[in-house]
Amino acid sequence: MGKTIGIDLGTTNSCVSVVEAGTPVIIPNEKGGRTTPSVVAFTKEGERLVGEAALRQAITNSARTVSSVKRHMGTDWRFTVDGKAYSPQEISSIILSKLKRDAENYIGETVTDAVITVPAYFNDIQRQATKDAGRIAGLNVLRIINEPTSAALAYGLDNGTPQKIMVYDLGGGTFDVSIIEIGENVIEVLATNGDNHLGGDDFDERIIGYLADVIKRECHVDIRQDPAARQRVSEAAEQAKKELSSSETSYIVLPYLSVDNGKPVNFEYTLTRSKFNELTRDLVDRTAIPVRNALTDAGIAASELQRVILVGGSTRIPAVQEKVRELTGIIPSKNINPDECVAQGAAAQGNTLSGGTLTLYGGGDNILLLDVTPLSLSIETVGGVATRLVERNTTLPIHYSQIFSTASPYQRNVEINVLQGERPMARDNKSIGKFRLNGIKRAPAGVPQIEVTFDIDANGILKVSAKDLDTGKAQSITINDNERMSDEEIEQAIRDAKQYAAQDGIRRILFKVNEEANKAVIGAQEVLDKSKKKLPREDKKQLKADINELQRLITSIKPDKMTENDIEQIRTAISRLNAQTERCTQFIQY
Ligand code: AMP
Repeated sequence: MGKTIGIDLGTTNSCVSVVEAGTPVIIPNEKGGRTTPSVVAFTKEGERLVGEAALRQAITNSARTVSSVKRHMGTDWRFTVDGKAYSPQEISSIILSKLKRDAENYIGETVTDAVITVPAYFNDIQRQATKDAGRIAGLNVLRIINEPTSAALAYGLDNGTPQKIMVYDLGGGTFDVSIIEIGENVIEVLATNGDNHLGGDDFDERIIGYLADVIKRECHVDIRQDPAARQRVSEAAEQAKKELSSSETSYIVLPYLSVDNGKPVNFEYTLTRSKFNELTRDLVDRTAIPVRNALTDAGIAASELQRVILVGGSTRIPAVQEKVRELTGIIPSKNINPDECVAQGAAAQGNTLSGGTLTLYGGGDNILLLDVTPLSLSIETVGGVATRLVERNTTLPIHYSQIFSTASPYQRNVEINVLQGERPMARDNKSIGKFRLNGIKRAPAGVPQIEVTFDIDANGILKVSAKDLDTGKAQSITINDNERMSDEEIEQAIRDAKQYAAQDGIRRILFKVNEEANKAVIGAQEVLDKSKKKLPREDKKQLKADINELQRLITSIKPDKMTENDIEQIRTAISRLNAQTERCTQFIQY
């Protein structure tokens, strides 16, 4: 059986890990980085770039670059480039394909099985979209697990003692708090809370907004109207933010940021930590609410926590760490790498699911993960009321049924509107799916018995069914497909991904062949330049003809239409030119 990888598919960065000799290790990308930016770009030449390569060209290619796609998971958001509209699943699958490739290069064999993590607050649609992204990337997603659970698992690898801990995860785009109980062989999520729209990106935005005002005031340039300039300020802002985690000041230099009245604008500024703290105080304060809610839901006081662990790059911000200490009275543990532990926990879980053992936890026992529903689940009943079937923070998997009836006399059908959220009225919750049960036996109101069942599997994916107990008629959904990709769309996306893989392969070969051809032409030109009168006319003529032929071939071949035969022709022309160059070199030397 192949190895199972653990993937932390992050808003800003992603990370992949695998268990080796009983320990989860981080798989470096081809640049040696331990995390990979979750950025995808489409070049004008039709190439797809992922990670560092995509991030590096983001300034010059901002309109064709996508980042923070995770924020759009499970929505109908689309990224359109060259007339094709990409769904969040498809963009995410491009990132996952790269992580898969990096893992395969590292492990040295094909990788198919994976465990992917998602924020605890992801709803069913978002979880399913993540699974679909994995499928498009050619991964068999064994399980979707919550990021804090995964982090706790990684933490548990080093600490087998029973304890209650808080996982405070402030990443690039999401904030999650979880209260977790680590037992002897069980890690149980007691409660989760969070904010789907709070993370390091928001901290960056505060700096960008501030700098944009300063630049406008001092340099009379509006970077908000200039995408390339904005991208550069955005990168500088993130860099400054990171520096301010370890220094009191950060010096920002942006030469040739823009042009004002035909003159280049050079921008320099020193940002202090105290200014940064002032700009972002309310963001840090916002994390207090989910912390309190999670503790309340878990039914414990902060004083009952043995430990607080920090996850996500943004927890390196000193003001954040101070806030955590203030909220819990505990100095957060930092002996766990905040960027890597989620992927490590997922790898550990993957290893367990595929029958492996871990040597570092409890002497190799398998660990049982108990996740919970992040939000309550209800159905809409008479008067627009949300009638709750599954309470928030119920441990997965869940199988729960309740009997309902009709509201009107002789009602032949009912609409089941599935809701997610904590509010008492249906309209205030999120409707995550609707379906109709037809063919109910004619009867006075309140007589038919309709059994509604909620099934949530270990991945947190929900199936709802309704059955008329009298007629046996049943209907079910795995949630309204409006916001999800249909199987057909997924198949199409898989085909696209495969087609791209082939094209990318050809492009890589063409790139290499081009390099060889350029080298051959340069070498031949050098010989021609040096030859003066030493070369026989015929040899000189032949050398020039070989150069021309190779150049003609290279320019005439279109990358998208290139065949193996074309490559063969170029290779032959290279060999011929190199042989002629060699022959002429010998003439010159004698
Ligand atoms: P993650 O999603 O966990 O990879 O977190 C990424 C976020 O952490 C991004 O917003 C980064 O800018 C931020 N980040 C990474 N390193 C630091 C640091 N040293 N100080 C502050 N924020 C950081």
